[in-house]
Amino acid sequence: MKCDVLIAGAGAAGLMCASEAARRGRRVIILEHGKPGRKVLVSGGGRANFTNLNVSAENYLSENPHFTKSALAGFPPSAIIQLLESHGVQSHEEESGKMFLDGRARQLLDLLVRRCNDSGAAIITGVKIGGIRKKAGRFSVNIEDGQFDAESLVVATGGLSYPELGATNLGFKIAERFGLRITPARPALVPFIFNQEDMKRYGGLSGISLETVIRYESKGKKKLVSGETLFTHKGLSGPAILQASLYWTGGGLSIDLLPGMDLKNMLVKDRAQNTRMHNYLSGLLPRRLAMKWCELFLNSKPLNQYPARRLEKAADELHNWAIQPSGTEGYKTAEVTAGGVDTKELSSRTMESVKVPGLFFAGEVMDVTGQLGGFNLHWAWASGFAAGRNA
Ligand SMILES: Cc1cc2nc3c(=O)[nH]c(=O)nc-3n(C[C@H](O)[C@H](O)[C@H](O)COP(=O)(O)OP(=O)(O)OC[C@H]3O[C@@H](n4cnc5c(N)ncnc54)[C@H](O)[C@@H]3O)c2cc1C
Repeated sequence: MKCDVLIAGAGAAGLMCASEAARRGRRVIILEHGKPGRKVLVSGGGRANFTNLNVSAENYLSENPHFTKSALAGFPPSAIIQLLESHGVQSHEEESGKMFLDGRARQLLDLLVRRCNDSGAAIITGVKIGGIRKKAGRFSVNIEDGQFDAESLVVATGGLSYPELGATNLGFKIAERFGLRITPARPALVPFIFNQEDMKRYGGLSGISLETVIRYESKGKKKLVSGETLFTHKGLSGPAILQASLYWTGGGLSIDLLPGMDLKNMLVKDRAQNTRMHNYLSGLLPRRLAMKWCELFLNSKPLNQYPARRLEKAADELHNWAIQPSGTEGYKTAEVTAGGVDTKELSSRTMESVKVPGLFFAGEVMDVTGQLGGFNLHWAWASGFAAGRNA
């Protein structure tokens, strides 16, 4: 079967790319091995945090930090918001510029598929992609019972995270097959796992969540993330932890469990009281955590029975809870894959390979990873749009 643009992967990036290319009059086919847009459906807990009003290159991790600028400028958050509105899909802003649908993510996926249908792009599902070659300026892609022939090939197969939702390494394999470099891949926006010792100490605190500030080092630079941390039965999760995992390179974390408070000063003022420590801390922390903290480190005596130095140390420990994760939960639960196809070898305007004309990449398969908050879907739209306008 012949077409102008063959797209591997019907996720957010592939669907956006397909409708844009087809609207230019290109004959477009998407090959998808599962069902289209499964990650779109689960995104934002089923409500799709589909963009962020504050999007900029700073929100992305990449070995090539300026790469995203051109595509983001060509497709700002207003473009996707207007697209949704023009199809009657309403959205709203939540904190920090995060845009969510008023309804369910299904509306977004239906819109993307409908745009493909209306523009004439064909989506073929249940396809197993085999060998890929480039000959006489055209790509030929084998499937189990046939072959596709296209002028342009867009790789939009996503990263390695969430294999259960169809993730494979096909995109990396295609890139390598054509001599492109892959930057080291790792799971990101992913929960941490406690080391054995911490598991014994804190494993029973599952379900507790609290506001925190997390400090850690990444490649010699000090990083700070604030937000909610959630205790799980294996370790720590929640928005602050997921965000920290994007930049985490294996070191320890220091977590302020009482951000915005000065516990040392508070204890100096209150140290004449005979309130027991666990009751005092329960006024500041979730009760189960306060009880566990006292059991592990402080006992629970009346405040006036602690020496001043012990109270000072207690304050310091609660503001700097030292955690050394044994690792992360891995691709199984990671929202994204950090790393991927090296963007230094791609045009930042068109997403086309510099070395292999006609070969394009879009979305998470590239070494562009957004922070939590709608940035990853936005990258899928912006890069898919750029590729669709040029493939
Ligand atoms: C649980 C969860 C929640 C998320 N929530 C948000 C959120 O609220 N906001 C946000 O910005 N980001 C969110 N993300 C991240 C976001 O969904 C992804 O970054 C984005 O979907 C990437 O789009 P993509 O098109 O590049 O890749 P994908 O969406 O992964 O699409 C790739 C497509 O290629 C197909 N494919 C893979 N291998 C093959 C193959 N061998 N043959 C044929 N087809 C193949 C897949 O089946 C898939 O349909 C979330 C991710 C997860 C897992």
